[in-house]
Amino acid sequence: MKVTEENVKVENGIHNGGEPDMFEKISGHQQVVFCNDPKTGLQAIIAIHDTTLGPALGGTRMRQYNSVDEALEDALRLSKGMTHKCAAAGLDFGGGKAVIIGDPAKDKSPALFRAFGQFVDSLNGRFYTGTDMGTTMDDFVSVMNETNYVCGIPEAYGGGGDSSIPTAQGVIYGLKATSKYLFDTDDLSGKTYSIQGLGKVGFKVAEHLLEVGAKLYVTDINKEALELIKQKAEAEKGSVEVVESDAIYGVDADIFVPCAMGAIINDETIDQLKVKAICGSANNQLLEEERHGQELQEKGILIAPDYIVNAGGLIQVADELYGANHERVLIKTKEIYNALLDIYKQSHLDSITTLEAANRKCEKRIEEGSSLNNFFARARRPKWNVRQ
Ligand code: NAD
Repeated sequence: MKVTEENVKVENGIHNGGEPDMFEKISGHQQVVFCNDPKTGLQAIIAIHDTTLGPALGGTRMRQYNSVDEALEDALRLSKGMTHKCAAAGLDFGGGKAVIIGDPAKDKSPALFRAFGQFVDSLNGRFYTGTDMGTTMDDFVSVMNETNYVCGIPEAYGGGGDSSIPTAQGVIYGLKATSKYLFDTDDLSGKTYSIQGLGKVGFKVAEHLLEVGAKLYVTDINKEALELIKQKAEAEKGSVEVVESDAIYGVDADIFVPCAMGAIINDETIDQLKVKAICGSANNQLLEEERHGQELQEKGILIAPDYIVNAGGLIQVADELYGANHERVLIKTKEIYNALLDIYKQSHLDSITTLEAANRKCEKRIEEGSSLNNFFARARRPKWNVRQ
């Protein structure tokens, strides 16, 4: 194996005795930091995938892993995804992700998160992070005692607050672009939508669609959410019909809006679909991106790439660098409309799937950005001032 100049030294890590196969494993990534603090029990991995467009940005996940290798793979996979997400959202950030190895229910302590914050700080703004699966804002209050390179924080700390608000706004712009492409109008009223999941994002999208007078078919395993949306419908122009969990795939609606979980487009569900398009916030909607993307295209079902549609939250998190400002976030989130329309048109012109068109758009942006020679991208300026 050749150690290429794209691979920099694995820092802080005592693993594998520097055997070259570790470089093979992390090839394509710029830097991997193993963080070890026996006093607090912290074991974490920070993966920086690509900083062509700017400092790496990505959440910190905490969960139990079966092995260090599994944790490393998760960090590598997720950080690579962040490079794409940031490029797609037009952000001047690259991709990174951190994983803390441990049980979020048992292994947390303020000291552990302070230790983690020190490792983040040691990267000098090459990596910005915030909460993800298994970590909460309380944990990040400890992290913020040690570093300014924290994003996605509550309004009380000067951040943008609930990121599901811009995420839902982004989905609405995604639906408008989809409607424009399919029906030559971005008026969402008078159409039918099947919505899976009425959580933080799905509920807000459903509320908006009811306000404009749409007909909704909804499902959720949370009965309370279903009751709430029925009450909401009574006061609005639109109407709502609740369907069983598995029945949502076969609903004869115009657009399917998945806002619950991933891998829901698979061999079992794809033949049930009667919709003209799929556009929702859920991550990784296709079980197999290439094969199922191709099948959808053959069936004439338009799919909006999830990371384009659900970028609103990420846009807000990145925008905090300039100080929280909801108006600016909304203006940037509105761009999802144009980005998605471009992708639909390009996919048609090049006879490729919309997912392939989105990937090419991201790669092009990174390629164009590579002239910036941003390999060691750092923070442009320090952010929060909460050190004790
Ligand atoms: P959430 O947990 O608040 O909501 C998910 C909803 O889906 C819940 O109401 C839950 O009861 C429901 N659900 C779970 N299993 C279901 C099933 N089998 N059938 C029907 N409903 C089911 O999550 P959220 O923040 O609204 O996010 C929704 C999706 O969007 C997730 O996939 C998330 O990863 C993605 N996403 C969210 C954001 C954000 O800002 N919140 C950003 C990007 C992507």
